[in-house]
Amino acid sequence: MSDNNQKHPLIAVVGSLNMDLVVKTDTIPEEGETVSGEELHYLAGGKGANQAVASARLGGQTTMIGAVGTDVFGERLLRSLHESGVDASQVRVMDDSATGTASIWLSNGDNRIIVIPGANGKVVPEMLEEADTVKSLTAAAAVLLQLEIPLPAVTRAATLASEGSALVVLNPAPAVPGLPQELLRCVDVVTPNRTELAVLTGRDQLRPEDLDAAVAELAASLGAAVVTTLGPEGAVYAAAPGGRVQAGRAGACRAPGYAVSAVDTTGAGDCFNGALAVALARGETLDAAVSFAMGAAALSVTKLGAQSGMPSADEVEAFLA
Ligand code: ATP
Repeated sequence: MSDNNQKHPLIAVVGSLNMDLVVKTDTIPEEGETVSGEELHYLAGGKGANQAVASARLGGQTTMIGAVGTDVFGERLLRSLHESGVDASQVRVMDDSATGTASIWLSNGDNRIIVIPGANGKVVPEMLEEADTVKSLTAAAAVLLQLEIPLPAVTRAATLASEGSALVVLNPAPAVPGLPQELLRCVDVVTPNRTELAVLTGRDQLRPEDLDAAVAELAASLGAAVVTTLGPEGAVYAAAPGGRVQAGRAGACRAPGYAVSAVDTTGAGDCFNGALAVALARGETLDAAVSFAMGAAALSVTKLGAQSGMPSADEVEAFLA
């Protein structure tokens, strides 16, 4: 690996791009009712795009693979990727679909969200077979996946990536029960939050005292490292014996969160995943990568917006120094 690729590793992100339509209102309308709200914001989002922006800002040479429609939202999402230095040339612009949207009603700390996948729902395995995409997936040091595009495409991305030497990082969000073995066999790192960990381990609920054991068990059963994020409390993680990603010690490890004054936690998990992929792709241990990702995610919650709140590598290094 050249020095530049070591410091700025090749990262491919396969996933969703959404325009978030955020309505702030004091009152949520009842059936048949019309109310006046306070504010409407159009924010670039989608777990895939958010993670790609985080990765690029943190120094990864990042390629985004996904789909938008031929509408103004799609144009705006592509612009947001360009502005953060993400290569968006492999985002397919589909003329028969709308760009994905998430309509988010925020009211007194409560939120209600309706996601319309649009073009994200049309990402099929065949799209990943194109020569430049196969090259991006097989040449990458890390490939970052989530579950906001159809499962067959996620699975194909993982199998192509594992034909190269990429580390495959799966953020299993939103939670989907019964992930295929073909996908799980390819992953090197899985990053569920608490809810997703419960689904992956077949539990209805996960008691706080059972978290460490659940993370260690899942790592052992997948043969992959598992990192579970716990919001402001930080993360719990475990490497698998014989896995490609190793930690300083066996079993579950706790990394307490950094205390910051949170302004907007949207996209904290996405920042964490982008940062984790970049650090692991640089060859860092799981312990060092989790610490870097927690620093990046803590900084991201101090700023408004998911993509606009993603920090740079210099900001994270200064924060952790
Ligand atoms: P989302 O889907 O909303 O992005 P998530 O559930 O995937 O969130 P979280 O566990 O909430 O992810 O957060 C990811 C990481 O972000 C945490 O492990 C932590 O490092 C950091 N983080 C989140 N909230 C805070 C906070 N209030 N203060 C400090 N760090 C935070």
